[in-house]
Parts: sequence; structure tokens; C-alpha cells
Amino acid sequence: MSKPFDLLSDDDLSTCVHCGLCLDACPTFRVTGLETESPRGRLYLMTQWKRGTLAFEEEQVRHIDLCLGCRTCEAVCPSGVPYGRIIEAGRAEVERLRRPSPKRILSKVALRQLLAHPTRLRAAGAAARAAQALRLTSVVRSGRQLPKLRPQFHRPVGDVAAAIGPRKHRVAFLVGCVMPILYPQSHQAAVKLLQLAGCEVWFPPGERCCGALFAHNGDLDTAERLRDANTSTYLAGNFEALVVDSAGCGAHLKDFYPELEGKVKDITEWLAEIGLPEPKKEVKLRVTYQDACHLAHAQRIRKPPRDLIRSLPGVELIEMRHPEICCGAAGLYSTLEPQMSNRILQEKLDDLSATRADVVVSANPGCQMQLEAGLRSRGSKMTVEHITELLASAY
Ligand code: SF4
Ligand code: SF4
Repeated sequence: MSKPFDLLSDDDLSTCVHCGLCLDACPTFRVTGLETESPRGRLYLMTQWKRGTLAFEEEQVRHIDLCLGCRTCEAVCPSGVPYGRIIEAGRAEVERLRRPSPKRILSKVALRQLLAHPTRLRAAGAAARAAQALRLTSVVRSGRQLPKLRPQFHRPVGDVAAAIGPRKHRVAFLVGCVMPILYPQSHQAAVKLLQLAGCEVWFPPGERCCGALFAHNGDLDTAERLRDANTSTYLAGNFEALVVDSAGCGAHLKDFYPELEGKVKDITEWLAEIGLPEPKKEVKLRVTYQDACHLAHAQRIRKPPRDLIRSLPGVELIEMRHPEICCGAAGLYSTLEPQMSNRILQEKLDDLSATRADVVVSANPGCQMQLEAGLRSRGSKMTVEHITELLASAY
């Protein structure tokens, strides 16, 4: 079996010129002030490992574990260091060599046994919802708190939702693994918006988890297996765009699915491109927008969501300080690294409170969950919505 570091060329690693411009953008450097918790420090470590000039030591793994994979460093780097690819390979190499902790073994098994199996995942979601209804909350709360679960999102009969009005486009829609369970209302709103914009929406049958969480946690083998299965499912269909309303999944599909190149679109990117009809209602809200890292930094999409929010009559968009800095969610990070995640979250909550907004909007389920839990812990009245919910409320 090839080693994950073999996926990287020496050029990938040698592009870092050590300028340090990424340091202040890195959430873990911002809260620790340590070079070892900065992009430059991590790149140095991984470069030495790859070149064999530094022996692999368990203590050093901490610096890789504490990286959120938010890719803010990649977005600000003037030298074009492909940090996302480097950390993905670095994590896989670490998983190959380390002595895993019980927590990491458990999370790996849970990912493989649940996320990769939609039926099991839906059954677990139904059980968690029943536990919430019976107020057995301690059973379903671990690490990050689950949101209040609603009835799960289901595909329409025949796997197609018709356009409202004349059909102008045919798109595929990524249902994904956790979103239909944790945030069905975001999917429902997304589909409604697509229909209103004249899209016939196709839900590829047999689609599985896109594999993003596996790749981000160093399990490239499972990520590749899921990619190969999904690619044949998608390629059997006929569509203009594969629309995604989860930033983490969209970024992974764009980076990791070469056969879909150019077809994957974040919902905000797609709606800004094709246009929505005139809103029907005023939405009288003060809104602030949290850039999801995998939308802003991995996909470089920052303007379309803001343009869409501003297009709603009655909405006042208030920018928070540092909307582009991670909230500390980062997939499984808040469960695996709760202390660092919480330190980063506290800074975000201060910035959110300062806006005095009614609602904070984001485009990723992980950010929603993290912000909801943080705001709840502070007793804040600010609510959290997916951007599709806010947009759909104007129709
Ligand atoms: S990663 Fe980019 S921004 Fe950071 S030190 Fe290296 S060259 Fe500079
Ligand atoms: S991905 Fe995020 S946490 Fe990791 S080094 Fe880059 S900026 Fe820092």
C-alpha cells in the first residue's frame, strides 16, 4: 500500500517561503501564540517527516491533531501553498503511524459503521430523536450538543422534484449523510429555492456519504471507496450542476472528485448565478453572516451569500469582526479537541454578541451546531439558521 505522503510532491511542500503572513489568520495560532500551532510550524513538521530528516514522534502529533483543517492559511498564503492537500495527507500518515487513543479508535469505528451506511445512520437519528422526545438528553449529548431533531428529510417519490413554473435547469442535489437527519429544514428550504429558481431537482438514488469527514480525519481509503461508488451514481444521471448546501461536502466534492470537475456548485454560488425570483415577503431581521471555512477558504465563495442576504427586503446585514475566522467546529474537531475548540468558539461568541444581530446565518451544518451550542451556553437569544432557511423565508 502506498504511503499517504507519496501523494505529495516535494514542490507541494517547498512552496512555503516562511513569510509568516498566514500566522494571524490561523485560529490555533491566534489563541496560543505558538509557532508549533501555526501553519508554518505544521508545514515545517510535515516537510521534515516526508523528507525523513525528522523522526516521527508521538508528541509531535499533537500539533497536527490541533489543526482545524479550516484552510484559512491557504486562502491568505501569497505563495500558493496547497495546505488542504498537505494536511489531508499528513493526517493520513499520522493515522498510519500513531498509537491511537481510545477516543480516536471509537470515532473511526463510529464513522465507518454509521456514516458510510445510510440506513444505520437514519436509524440512529430516529433513536436520538425519540430519546430527545423522552428527555433522555444525556444519552444523545456527547461532546457537542445535538440540535433539536425534527422529522428527517426524505427524497420525493421518483427521486425528482419538479420546477415551480417553467423548467429552466435540471440539477442534482446532494442529500448527504448527516444533514437530512440533523438539519432537514435546511435541505427543504434549499430544494424549495431551487424549484422557485426554475430547477428540476434530481436526487441521485444510491448516493452515499461524500466521504469528507473520512478524508479530513485521515481515513483516505474509505473516502476513496465512497468517491468511487458515488461517482458512478452521479455519472449515470443527466444534470447541469450538482448542488450542495453543506460547505464541507461541497469543498470535498470539488477537490476529491475529478470526474465531476466544474459541475459541483454550492447552493449560494448556483443561486447567485441563475437568479431567484423577486422575494414575496419582507424579512425584518438583523442578520450576521459566519463564513463557513470550507466555503470561504476552500471554495473561495464569500460574495454570493452576502449578495443573496442583502437582496432580501427588510434584512439588515451586520458584519461581525473576523467573520472569516473558524468557529471551532471543523467536523469532528469539537468532539476530539473540545478544549481548543471551545477557546476558539469563545472568541467567536464575543464577536457575535457585539453585532446585536437577531440571527446568525451560515452555510454548513457543523458551524450551525457549534454556534447553537455556544449561544445556548451563554443564554443568548440569537438564533442560528442555514442561509437557505433565511432566503426561503422571503417566499
Ligand atoms: S504557508 Fe504561505 S503564508 Fe504561511 S509562511 Fe508559508 S508561504 Fe508564508
Ligand atoms: S488549516 Fe486552519 S488551523 Fe490548520 S494551520 Fe491552517 S489556518 Fe491553522
